[in-house]
Amino acid sequence: MARKRLDLVFPPQLSLKPIIYHLVKDYDLVPNILRAQIHPAQEGRMVLEVTGAKESYDAGVAFLEAQGLTVSEAASDIVLDEERCVNCGLCTAVCRPGALALDRKTQTLTFDKDKCVYCEACVIACPRRAITLSF
Ligand code: SF4
Ligand code: SF4
Repeated sequence: MARKRLDLVFPPQLSLKPIIYHLVKDYDLVPNILRAQIHPAQEGRMVLEVTGAKESYDAGVAFLEAQGLTVSEAASDIVLDEERCVNCGLCTAVCRPGALALDRKTQTLTFDKDKCVYCEACVIACPRRAITLSF
């Protein structure tokens, strides 16, 4: 069984085609869209978690690439440099899923991995460059 996060780039001509549907129907995969920016006739980006048998996963990725999508492995964790972090909380304001929060008692930053969708908003928001994504 494979479970991976993929970073997909859709060329403009594919932005409105039901590509992900085929992963379910033809490859018996379970896709979970974590993030998507898709607009008609523009290049689109999607972070997709895919679960399924290893052979199905490989075949599904080959299908995506054959359709013209660029497929790469997405970030699978964020790394907090505690020496750089000053617990200012700025990153919590941009973390829509609530994965980053300030502990009220200790006033220190906490991270809930299960809520993170790897959108990178915190990486950009942190003035101390204390957060990076790892693959
Ligand atoms: S914005 Fe940066 S310095 Fe501030 S709490 Fe978040 S990680 Fe720490
Ligand atoms: S990558 Fe996005 S979802 Fe994850 S902790 Fe940062 S802001 Fe929150």
